[in-house]
Amino acid sequence: MFEPAHRTMPAVDYVSMIRSLYADRGSMLLGAFGSAIAAAASGLKAGSPVLGIIAVLFVIVGVLRNIDMRAFDAVTIADDDVETAYAWEIRSTIGAGAIALLYGVWCVVSFWVRDPFAELAAATVSVSVLVGVSQRNFAIDRLMTLQVLLIGVPLLLGVLFVGNIYYAVLVLLLLPFFASLRRIAGAARAMLLRAVHGRIEAAALATQLDTALDTLEHGLLMLEAEGIIEVTNDRALVAFGEGDHAAWVGRPFGELLDEAVAQGGLAGTARDRLMDLIASATGGKVLLGMKEGRYFEVTVSTRNRQTVLLFEDISERIVAEERINFMARYDALTGLPNRAYFSDQVEAALADRRRAGDRRGAALWIIDIDDFKHVNDTMGHLAGDQLLAEVAARLPPAFAPGTLCARLGGDEFIAFHAPAASGEDVRQDAERVLTAMRKSFEVMGHKLGANVSIGVVLSEDLEDDLDTLMIKADLALYTAKAGGKGQIVEFHESMDTEYRLRQRLKADLKQAIAEGGLHLVYQPIVDLRQNRVIGCEALARWNHPELGPIAPATFIPVAEETGLISDLTRFVLETATRDCRAWPGDISVAVNVSARDFRASDVEGMVNTALENSRLPARRLEIEVTETAVIEEREAVNAVLLSLYTRGIGVALDDFGTGYSSLSYLQALPLTKLKIDRSFVMDIETNPRSIRLLANVAQLGKDLDLVITAEGIETQEQLDLIMGKTRIDHVQGFLFGVPLPAADIARLIERHSAEPQEEARRLMTGRP
Ligand code: C2E
Ligand code: MG
Ligand code: MG
Repeated sequence: MFEPAHRTMPAVDYVSMIRSLYADRGSMLLGAFGSAIAAAASGLKAGSPVLGIIAVLFVIVGVLRNIDMRAFDAVTIADDDVETAYAWEIRSTIGAGAIALLYGVWCVVSFWVRDPFAELAAATVSVSVLVGVSQRNFAIDRLMTLQVLLIGVPLLLGVLFVGNIYYAVLVLLLLPFFASLRRIAGAARAMLLRAVHGRIEAAALATQLDTALDTLEHGLLMLEAEGIIEVTNDRALVAFGEGDHAAWVGRPFGELLDEAVAQGGLAGTARDRLMDLIASATGGKVLLGMKEGRYFEVTVSTRNRQTVLLFEDISERIVAEERINFMARYDALTGLPNRAYFSDQVEAALADRRRAGDRRGAALWIIDIDDFKHVNDTMGHLAGDQLLAEVAARLPPAFAPGTLCARLGGDEFIAFHAPAASGEDVRQDAERVLTAMRKSFEVMGHKLGANVSIGVVLSEDLEDDLDTLMIKADLALYTAKAGGKGQIVEFHESMDTEYRLRQRLKADLKQAIAEGGLHLVYQPIVDLRQNRVIGCEALARWNHPELGPIAPATFIPVAEETGLISDLTRFVLETATRDCRAWPGDISVAVNVSARDFRASDVEGMVNTALENSRLPARRLEIEVTETAVIEEREAVNAVLLSLYTRGIGVALDDFGTGYSSLSYLQALPLTKLKIDRSFVMDIETNPRSIRLLANVAQLGKDLDLVITAEGIETQEQLDLIMGKTRIDHVQGFLFGVPLPAADIARLIERHSAEPQEEARRLMTGRP
């Protein structure tokens, strides 16, 4: 019946119950002092000193309980501290029990003294106290029951003690009243518990909401129908430069926006857009650009006339997008616009110019670093990169304001200006670029010189688009490079004609190679000691169906540029080895191989196939390489030449003296022969220094155990000088024969092998 509450109830409930016991000090004091007055009054009336004592006791117990209750107020009990609460329950039970017992004694004494006023006072006060007890102490059933018993039983006994049948009936009526008091207390207890639970749940919910709002990555604002802020977190207000969210709860959202606009943190138009979206109640998104480059995407949604705003900080995303945008438009190494971005801008400018019919010139410069490959090769790519960046940095300041500079790719830069005043201005800009490059560059701790070549075009033709201008500037640049480094060349229409011709040759050459439009001629090589032809050099010829004979000096570079050279070399190798097979004795054939061949095709494979197909002995084939090939494709060339050399194929260094003339190649490469360029022979008749130079170069080759050939012998005098003053082994030149078709050369060789030298020369040159 008296369940120990602290064990049966959840801790929180129990602690709340104990708190309720101590809640109403006022009514306790009122009860105690009221009762003391009533007891004192009835003691006076009935002349009973016992009642007086009871009155005093009421005051004492009331004061003690008050002290106890104050002490309770002074301590804080945790919601789950059952132990402490239980101690307070015991103290409360003792206090409440003592005062209840006092009422019981008062009732018994009052009925004992048989004074109607005393009886009435004790009975009415006790009954009302009982009612009060049920209100105040309903929480602890045991305590309440104890009080009811301690007051009720003596009261009943007192009434019964009177021994009157009417009083007995009253007692009978009082019993259900006491019982109902307990029931009412039970109901009140349940109500209290519900309230306590409700409060706890509400508090838990509030905490959860707080946690959710605090941990929410985005800012959140909840507005009620009138636009008043109901709920928000700090993040939402940070967007507006406000820190404390609590300060804004209950204020209109519009005010917050107005404040942000007033402080310059938000544009008025953005505020209007956001307010319109909230008013429309349709939901949607708005981008808010705030102070200090912060961007927020606000998602607005409305439901049940409540609006929720989510603020997502997308500043970083925007910065990243801007960065990507930048990277797509600018060259990472130099920071200059890249080709694509440059093209966009220039094409737009040219289109504007066309629309406006503005015939003032448009200028385009293409700037190329001379020998950049050399820097890359000798100092490494890092140094190359640094040089590019340094060159790029000097470009824009050299040009007139308004010029757009960009990196075209590799070591090429481009600049555009429209309208450009005059050809003179355009040239001066280019001169300033050359001057700017003259100061040496600091690259990885080294001082480095770098020149640029510039091709420039100034066009007044409105139809010229960027591609056309670039082709023209490129042609000018090509001419600048061909004429030596560090030059400025302006585009001229004749370059265009040349360009068109080259374009045509490219297409036609392809067709000629495919359809057998090329043929070979052979130039005899004569051994001076043996006094006979020992071999022939194969030279390609192209007889264009419309343009007539095209010189190798023209079509070989075209073939190299287009990559057709591989097919050409294969054709020459196949044809030359086959023709050579038909020649008598051990007469050899020499074939020219270009630098591009070593880069693009399998020279060794082509040679092998040609030898296999023709069944020409390897020693009767000679390969001629130029210094350029050796320098440009050092590794590849060395490996290929070594393997050819090992097979017994002759390896000649052609045109020696026209290029770098580096002696180190002669030493390092597996060569069998040195062909001294005809520029060394040209003026030996008139210049005594020249014959000495020729003799020394030849001696140098001889010291390296090379066979020496002199090219371009045109006169008897030249031949006599060579024979008298040098140790040259072989000669080649118009004096012995112009390059002849295969059939003629075979006949010539046959005849010549039987004839003395003078006769042979006559035969070959056709001179008497
Ligand atoms: P090269 O290999 O030095 O060939 C010798 C060039 O000198 C030939 O010119 C020849 O006709 C010319 N020549 C010979 N004797 C004399 C002379 O006494 N006086 C003068 N002034 N010239 C003489 P060609 O045939 O016009 O060839 C020019 C260059 O074109 C060749 O120089 C060679 O580098 C290249 N070439 C020719 N045919 C081929 C080929 O089939 N493949 C490759 N890769 N290059 C070739
Ligand atoms: Mg040659
Ligand atoms: Mg040569």
